[in-house]
Amino acid sequence: MTDWNDDAARDLMSLGGRLALLTHGEGSWVWDADEKRYLDFLGGIAVNCLGHAHPVFVDAVATQAATLSHVSNYFATPGQLELAARLKRLAGTGEAGRVFLANSGTEANEMAIKLARLHGARFTETEGAGRTKILVVEGAFHGRTMGTLSLTPKAKYRDPFLPAVPDVVTVPRTLEGLEAAFAAGGVAAMIVEPIQGEAGVVELPERFLARARELATQHDALLILDEVQTGSGRTGTWFAFQRFGITPDAVTLAKSIGAGFPLGALVTFGAASDLFYPGTHNSTFGGNPLAAAAANATLGYIEENDLLANVNARGAQLREGVEGLPLVADTRGAGLLIGIRLSEPVAAEVRAAAHERGLIINAPTEDVIRIAPAYTIGDAEVAEFLTLFAAALDAVASAHKTLETPA
Ligand SMILES: *Cc1c(COP(=O)(O)O)cnc(C)c1O
Repeated sequence: MTDWNDDAARDLMSLGGRLALLTHGEGSWVWDADEKRYLDFLGGIAVNCLGHAHPVFVDAVATQAATLSHVSNYFATPGQLELAARLKRLAGTGEAGRVFLANSGTEANEMAIKLARLHGARFTETEGAGRTKILVVEGAFHGRTMGTLSLTPKAKYRDPFLPAVPDVVTVPRTLEGLEAAFAAGGVAAMIVEPIQGEAGVVELPERFLARARELATQHDALLILDEVQTGSGRTGTWFAFQRFGITPDAVTLAKSIGAGFPLGALVTFGAASDLFYPGTHNSTFGGNPLAAAAANATLGYIEENDLLANVNARGAQLREGVEGLPLVADTRGAGLLIGIRLSEPVAAEVRAAAHERGLIINAPTEDVIRIAPAYTIGDAEVAEFLTLFAAALDAVASAHKTLETPA
C-alpha cells in the first residue's frame, strides 16, 4: 500500500477526509496509487461531465496551452468571446445578456451579491436608502468565501466566521414563507438554487420558483439563480430554470462548465446587464484562455453529440435501477444530479462500503446518497454502478440486521 496519509497530515491543511490518493483516470474510471480502480459516479462533485481525460478536453487544453495561456483582464481573447456568446445563446438571454467569467462557483456567487448591491443602490433616492436585503432559502449552499458563506445558513460552515455580510434573510422552503419574506419589503435580490445539491439534492416545492419570479418582479427585486451545480446540462436541460418556465435576472455557473477546468460564470438578463460598470469588478484569471478553451470544447461537444438526451435517459435508467434495492426509500433530482434517499440514516456507511468495492459516490446528508456521473455514461457504466451499489447496500443492510438480531 502506498503510504501517503502521513504526508497529507503533515503538509495539507487539516480540513477533512482525503479518501484516496488518485493518480489517473479515463472515462468514468479513476485509479489510486495502488492501481485500485474506482467507478467515479461523483465526478469530482458534479464537475467531470465528460469523464476523465476525454480526448476533446485534452486536445482543447493542450492546444490552447501551446498557443496562449494567459493574458489578464486588460485583454479579450477569441475563446472568451466565443464562450460569452455561447452562454448567452444557451441561457436564452437575447441581445441584452452579458457574461462575466470567474474561476469558481463561489466567485461567480460573490459577483451575484455585488450585483444585488448595485441593484439595491438604485433605490437610494426613491426609498431614502439603498436596499441591501438578500433572501436565501433554508438549506442553501452558495460557497465558502466570506460573502457567499453569509448566504449559506448552515451553522457548521458559517458560525466560526461571524460576523457575516449583513441583511441576509433565510426563507423557509414554503410558499407562505416566500410570500412573507417579500411582503416584509426592502428586498434587493433573492438568490436560490433550483435544486439544492449540497442539501441532499432537495427539490423546491411546486411553484416555488415561479412564485419567486412573480414576487421579485412585483417588488422590483432581482431573482438570481445559483446554477453552479445544476447548470451546464447537469439536470438534462442547459439550465435547470428552463424546466420551470421562468427567466431569472441572473444565473451563476461553475462545476460542469469546464469539465474539470476551474471556471465560473455570471450571466445576466435584461436590465441587470447594465448594473456593473468599469471599476466595479474584475479578476486576473477570470476568462483565462485555458478555461475558455476547456468550456468551449466541453459545451460544444455536449451540444454536437446531443448529450443532454443521454443525461435524461441515463438519469431515468439509474433511478429506475435503484428502486427496490435494500435501504432505498426514493430518488429525487433531475437528469444526472440524483439524490437517493435511504430509509435509515446510514448514508455514510453506504458511501464507505461503496468505496471499499471501488465505487465513488457521496453522502451529503445522513440519509441521502448523491450521484453526479459523467454525461457520457452508457449501459456498461449504469450496469456496473447498479451491481456495486447494490452490493454496498446489501453489506450495510446485513450488518445492521446482524446487530439487531443478537445470536
Ligand atoms: C459547489 C457549489 C458552490 C461553490 O462552488 P465552488 O466552485 O466550490 O466555489 C456554490 N453553489 C452551489 C449550488 C454549489 O453546488
